[in-house]
Amino acid sequence: MKKVSLEGLKRFRERTRVVLAGRDPEDSYGFVNTPIVRGSTVVYQSLDAFMARKSRYMYGTMGNPTLDALEMACNTMEGGAGVVVCPSGLLACTLPLLATLSAGDHMLVTDSVYRPTRNFSENMLKRMGVEVSYYDPLIGKGIEALFKPNTKVVFTEAPGSQTFEMQDIPAIAKVAHKHGAVVIMDNTWATPLYFDSHAAGVDLSIQAGTKYYAGHSDVLIGTVSARTPELYKQLRTTWEQLGVIVAPEDAFLTLRGIRTMPLRLKEQEKAGLEMAKWLQKRPEVKQVLHPALKDDPGYKIWKRDFTGASSLFSIILNPVPHKAVAAFVDHLSLFGMGASWGGYESLVLPFDCSTYRTVTKWEPGGPCIRIHIGLEDVEDLKEDLDAGFTRLKAAM
Ligand SMILES: *Cc1c(COP(=O)(O)O)cnc(C)c1O
Repeated sequence: MKKVSLEGLKRFRERTRVVLAGRDPEDSYGFVNTPIVRGSTVVYQSLDAFMARKSRYMYGTMGNPTLDALEMACNTMEGGAGVVVCPSGLLACTLPLLATLSAGDHMLVTDSVYRPTRNFSENMLKRMGVEVSYYDPLIGKGIEALFKPNTKVVFTEAPGSQTFEMQDIPAIAKVAHKHGAVVIMDNTWATPLYFDSHAAGVDLSIQAGTKYYAGHSDVLIGTVSARTPELYKQLRTTWEQLGVIVAPEDAFLTLRGIRTMPLRLKEQEKAGLEMAKWLQKRPEVKQVLHPALKDDPGYKIWKRDFTGASSLFSIILNPVPHKAVAAFVDHLSLFGMGASWGGYESLVLPFDCSTYRTVTKWEPGGPCIRIHIGLEDVEDLKEDLDAGFTRLKAAM
């Protein structure tokens, strides 16, 4: 079989593209996968070849075959002009900001943003002379009132980190483009498989590949996809200038994860929804925050713009003392307690974002827990949580 070019891949459907992208067995001694290529120096055969610098690879920091293969697989899902790969999801959030903002510029950020992105904006960007303000994730086209003459970037994320507010991305992008601003979106929750962010007007689209791409809680990685060739060049140049490079082993593992991602997502979407509906019926639960539930405030936008849901959502418990929450989460057998998500295993994460929001109030009226559903049998997961609720009640 021959390597299929990015252009050639377009005639296939998404699942086929994810299987084919970035592989050329003829180039890999016949083996199915693109190998892990390690290296800093690239050597040249002659002075003329060195002077011309026409070889595909020139130095390790400027790319290598393993990274190329991963970029191509990401690109075929994103459908943009090009992708850069970063050594963490957080760097994939910060790199496009460094690529697009200068001293004196203003940026609008959703108040529901992933907290470390807020931290970078509040500290590094402000120190560099960038003005940062926040907007209500439910603002929609009303965001126009917040634009200033120097607004250069709108940073969106939908649904919101931990709190799951949906945003009208096409409406926000339309306003931003009218004002000449670049739209950046953290699209980790839906992945490009469930939200075509570029089609909705997003210029630079972020994935914490640590989550569903890698899918096994064993890699930290991130990707940024650019909608236009001009933005891709700007992004790539910043990537090269900073010396951002990803270990080829991590690129290889992520590529391996991507081959099965459509299947994992489909299964996890189904299990996530089943668990969310089960939790809705529990008397201990005040509210389930999951945009793919019909009675969720974000359902209409989710249904209009997204083609699927991932398996991350939150619950608000009816008011109970701290020790009852501890009794619930401390002795679960299947749900680990910890950050990150998108792996094959289920997780819980208690959270409270009331302390750091600035333009919206987070007043849930009860303790909040974010839940990630993995690939375990949902009946086992229900039994685990059911036992947790029994402990919660006993501790009240
Ligand atoms: C996890 C996460 C990131 C950061 O990814 P890391 O690889 O952990 O740095 C960024 N955005 C969102 C929405 C995330 O959930």
